Order: sequence, then structure tokens, then C-alpha cells
Amino acid sequence: MKVASVLIPLPVHEAFDYEVPEAMALARGDQVAVPLGPRMMRGIVAEVRETTGSNRRLKVVETRLDDPPLPPGTVDFVEWAARWTLSPPGEMAATALKGLRAPRPRPERRLRRVGDRTPARPTAGRTAVLAALGEAAMPGPDLARAAGVSSAVIKGLVDEGVLEVIETLADAAFDAPDPAHAPATLNADQGAAADAIAAATAAGGFRPFLLDGVTGSGKTEAYLEAVARTLAADPAAQILILLPEIALTQDLIARITARFGAAPAEWHSGVAPPKRRRVWEAVVAGRCSIVVGARSALFLPFPNLKLVIVDEEHDGSFKQEDGLVYHGRDLAVARARIEGAVVVLASATPSLETLWNAQGQRYGWLKLSSRHGAAQLPDIQLLDLRQCPPDPQTWLSQPLREAIAQTLMAGEQTLLFLNRRGYAPVVLCRACGHRMTSPDTDSWLVEHRYTGRLVCHLTGFTMARPRICPSCGAEDSLVSVGPGVERVEEEVRQLFPEARTAVFSSDTVPDARAARALIQRMTEGEIDILVATQAAAKGHNFPLLTLVGVVDADLGLRGGDLRAAERTYQLLTQATGRAGRADRPGRAILQTWTPEHPVLMALAKGDRDGFVEAEMAEREAATLPPHGRLAALILSGVDAMAVEKVAADLAAAIPNAERLEVYGPADAPLGLIRGRRRKRLLVRADRDVDLQGFLRAWLARVKVPGSVRVTVDVDPYSF
Ligand code: ADP
Repeated sequence: MKVASVLIPLPVHEAFDYEVPEAMALARGDQVAVPLGPRMMRGIVAEVRETTGSNRRLKVVETRLDDPPLPPGTVDFVEWAARWTLSPPGEMAATALKGLRAPRPRPERRLRRVGDRTPARPTAGRTAVLAALGEAAMPGPDLARAAGVSSAVIKGLVDEGVLEVIETLADAAFDAPDPAHAPATLNADQGAAADAIAAATAAGGFRPFLLDGVTGSGKTEAYLEAVARTLAADPAAQILILLPEIALTQDLIARITARFGAAPAEWHSGVAPPKRRRVWEAVVAGRCSIVVGARSALFLPFPNLKLVIVDEEHDGSFKQEDGLVYHGRDLAVARARIEGAVVVLASATPSLETLWNAQGQRYGWLKLSSRHGAAQLPDIQLLDLRQCPPDPQTWLSQPLREAIAQTLMAGEQTLLFLNRRGYAPVVLCRACGHRMTSPDTDSWLVEHRYTGRLVCHLTGFTMARPRICPSCGAEDSLVSVGPGVERVEEEVRQLFPEARTAVFSSDTVPDARAARALIQRMTEGEIDILVATQAAAKGHNFPLLTLVGVVDADLGLRGGDLRAAERTYQLLTQATGRAGRADRPGRAILQTWTPEHPVLMALAKGDRDGFVEAEMAEREAATLPPHGRLAALILSGVDAMAVEKVAADLAAAIPNAERLEVYGPADAPLGLIRGRRRKRLLVRADRDVDLQGFLRAWLARVKVPGSVRVTVDVDPYSF
């Protein structure tokens, strides 16, 4: 008898076995419908094996579905990713099927000329129809409009057999990119980088690269050239380009379309399900060469993946923390390894992990040393707020105000950067000191003036700003403390009433379309001063932007997070890198209370190597990543006692292991979210320890009740 192990999207760590009916041919990767309790589930066949007379009664595979099977590399990748992250393999597999959730787009009817048949009666209308159509195939209404005739004229031609109706899947095909459409002339560094990447894709096999160059040094241009050469050598090659934020995709799609004369496929949560289905089907059929997407695009069923590019590889947004917990950059490297493909990690501020791999020569290191053309890195000035403190209830110091005024006079643009959404991060009562907090969360409510509400950024809870303190009942005693982007914009508008201002944050720019509109207004010089969170700090080109003001450069250096210094360094380099990209020199002013902080000093000196060396030494001394490894277990549940009990059981059941320590249990950094109590255990291990093996053995020792959820976070980004 044949037995199939099937991956089903359930929170369990094994595949389910089913009997394969005699007449059914099944292979790894096939999609099947299988019974589970009273329901039918879609699953992926992981394995088919022959067994001899087991007396266990297995359920039987219902049908093999018509949907295309997952290519072998995709199944290998899904299984590897599940093992690496300790996630249920069936749920990983389900992410590879996300494109199938929508119904298939309905076929579209188009008209086409039949051979060179001519109409018996060539009226003016009929001749116009044939001229408008030419060799193409067009939907009837479009053709009628193009020829300026009624649908009756077209129907007449169909009845006569001059035109025929064909059915095509709506937008089924992606136009093939043309590598020679609009070639770029590269400088020497760019050429060398493109050569190295293209040589690696031509040779075949896994090969990782770090593409390292300051903002504006032409990394995108260089990797697009490598894409062109890869496609020129192998037109069937598939290429995946990952970006950390949906907001960045439009820019890149426009550049790719201009470079290759054809738009790439787009894949992220903002793409409508029917379009996603179209992409999924084109990818699995090899009818789509270039995909630009967010981290979930890693799970697309590429049969012939040759090159993966992770742009802004250092970006924390590649880490997915809800649902399946994984790091998109790390999984991109794994996918390339499994597919025998080349992977390029591009950044102006590479992560310490990636730098460590490049320093150790595990990754090829491609450096672009200068900015393209005349553009220079901006002058970076640390502004010591102790010397020129802003007035109470304002956040822009006198020197920064003067710099903004000069920039306005020159007809140039300013970006004021503050990584804080809303109007004020804290609202408190002047009478009793009560802080407004979310009802079922420890976190403070953030005031938003545009919407007039207090918002919990963790849970989305909102309420109107009360007039009376809910704690002591005092009237009109609540005050807004500290600045968010909305409040800085308010200050800017009071200072420069004639300037055109805008706010760029996830509140004012909720989706890709809004982001595109705002970026376009900025690019076309319709905005003088943009106040922005990190959403605008990366990847965009604003030619008229010559001043970047960082409102609070100390934000992010506080707090004991592993990556606090690294993240601040990256963010500030990116934000200040916005200035002076075209022919105008730029400058950046960083307001700080701690200008002696090593991160800020390295930044002001443009001394990345100095920063990396100091930070790497600290990590090495503490054997923290990249010199060691971390994993976190987060326990959560509404029943606080049950959570405590599981935490205590786990703490009592730690397997013996060398060069590995367990810390905790402690309250997780966000100890209470949506009424769920959260506890955390943290594991640190030397690099060569089998961390996953340890975690598996540990978790197997403890029985976890259904009311407590255990989330494993391997290589946590923050903790
Ligand atoms: P990065 O990705 O490193 O930030 P980009 O590739 O976006 O840099 O390049 C920055 C700017 O310089 C873009 O406007 C780009 O079109 C231009 N550029 C880069 N390389 C070239 C080149 N070889 N020829 C012409 N323009 C270039």
C-alpha cells in the first residue's frame, strides 16, 4: 500500500499520513484534498512511500487537485524553514499557497483576425476595424472604441468568419523583460559588482554577496545590470527582489519597467488576491521572470530561481514577528542555498551579521566606494542641545530653525526626521500624574491630533481624548508630553506659515498608493518641509532635498536592546543619506543631548568602520550575535497562573547543554498585550551549538496546556 505524508496547515509539528488510492499517481509537491475530522483540507504531499500491511486504519486521500504542484525546491525550502524556525511545517507550506486563496480570474474574450480573410463587403467601418486590430487580439468593446464603430459591425465580421473569438486568461502573461531595452553605463565599481554577480549566476550554484555602498552609490543600478546579464544568458531564469517596505516597491517597479521595457510582477499584502493568483500561477509556470516583493514572496513556487536580491538587507522590517516568526533576509539566503542560486544582500549600512559573514569571506564583498556622479555625502553636524535648548514645548532648536529658513529661501527641501508616530507619545494628568494607558496593555496611549484620538500602537485600541482625568476626576488637567511627527509639523507651520508641509508616517500614508502620491509630490517639489518617521527615511530619491534635521538623535540609543546602537546608526545614516543626492550638496543636523555618544561621533565623522569595530568588539566580549546565537521562548495566555506554571515547568526542565545559557523566565518586554500575560525565556548559545536541537528537546519535556501559547523566536531581532 502507498502512504502519503501530507502537510496540512495546523499548529502541529508533523505531516499527516494518508493512504493513497491504487489509481492515484502522487508525488512530492502535489496538492491534494484530504479529510480531517468532518472537513476537507488542502495539503501538500511531502513524501510518498510504500508500506507493507500496516494494520493502522489510515484515511484516504480524497483527490489530487488540479492546481500546479509545488516545485521540489519550494518544498525543500518550506521544510527547511519550518525546522529552522521550529514552526509547524503545514503552516509554512500554507504560506507557499497564499496565491491560491482567490478564485482564478475569469477568462477574457478577445477578437483576432482569422488568417488573411477579407470581408465580402468592405465598408468604411469594417476596414477601420481591421486596421485598428492589425495582428493583435483585443476585447470587443476596446476594438469598437478604437475603430469608432458599433458592436454590430464587429459582430458582422465575426459572423462572416473574418474575426474569431479567443479566450485568454485576463492578463495571463507577463511581458518578457528585455535586457537590452535601456542599458545603463556603469562606473568601474558598479561594473565590477555586476560582473561578479553575473559570473556567479552564469556559473550556477549557491553564492552569497554583500553589495555594500553608501546611499546613492548606485547599488540598484548595479544589481539591475546583473539581472539583465543573468536574463540575457538564460531567458528562463527567475529573479526575486525583496524590499523591506511596501512603500518602496513602486519606485523600484518603475525603474525596472524603464530598464527592461516590461513591468515585473509585484507581490505583497497590498496586492489584491486575484492579482496575486495571477502572479502565483505565472511564477509556478515559469511565465514570469522578475518578481518584486515583500518577505512573503520568498515562498513563491519558483521552478527556476537563479538570483535573489535583498535590498536594504539590514532593515528590521524583514523580521516577521506575528504568525510565523522568521527573518526574511536569513530565509532568502537559505532559499538561495537550497535552489543553488546567487543571493545579493544590498545595503549602505549592512547588519553586523552580514558584515561578519563578509569579513569572514563566507560572502563575497562588493563595494561601491563613492556616490554616483557629483553627489556628495552630506555634511553631518551634531547639534549639542545643552548649548542651545529649544524653548519649552518646542522641539526645534534655533540653529535648526535657521537652517530650515535658509533652505526655504534657496527653494530647496527639508526632511525633519522623528521616529515617532502621532502627536505626543504620552498623555498625563497634571493634577495627579496619572498616565493614560491602554486598558488591557501596559503601554502608554499615544495622542493623535489628526484623528483626535488616543491610540495604543500595540493593539490598535483607541478612545477619544477625555476632558476629565479618569483617575482623579480633575477637569482639563490632561497634558500632551513629548513630540511626535504631528506635533513637530505643528511647530513648523507656526514658524513657517508660508511653507508647504506634510507628514509621512504609517498614519498619514496607510497604503502603497498614498505613499506613491506623497513621494511624487515631494519629488516634484510640491512640498517644502516633510516631517517623517522611518517610513520615509529609506530608499527614496528626492533631488531637491538638501537639509535633513534629526529631531531627536538620542531616541533609540536609550534602552538596553542588543541592536539599539546598530539600529540607530543605520537609521541615521539612511535618514541623513536622503540629503543632497543630485547635484546640490546636502547637510544634516542631528539634535542631541549626548554628542559624546560613540555612535553619534562615528556618524558625524562618517566613520562606519570605527563604529562597526567598536560594536563588534562588544558583541564578541558578550558572545552575542553575530558571535553567538539567541533564541526566545515567549509564553502567552489570558490565564496568568497557567502562563506562570508553564514558565516554571520549562525553567525546571532545561536539558543539560554546554556553551549555552537560559535566562528567565521574566516578563516579556511587552508584558501584557490584549489582556494576554507574556513571559519570556531567553537562550544564548555559542555559534556551533545546535540551538534548534536543544529547543526541540527542551519543549518535548514540558506539557503545555491549550490555554498557553508558546512562540519560538530563533535569532530574535529585538528582545
Ligand atoms: P543606491 O541603490 O545605492 O541608493 P541608486 O542605484 O538608486 O543608488 O543610484 C542613485 C542615483 O544615481 C539614481 O538616480 C540612479 O539613477 C543614478 N545612477 C546610479 N548609477 C548610475 C549610472 N551608472 N549612470 C547613470 N545614473 C546612475
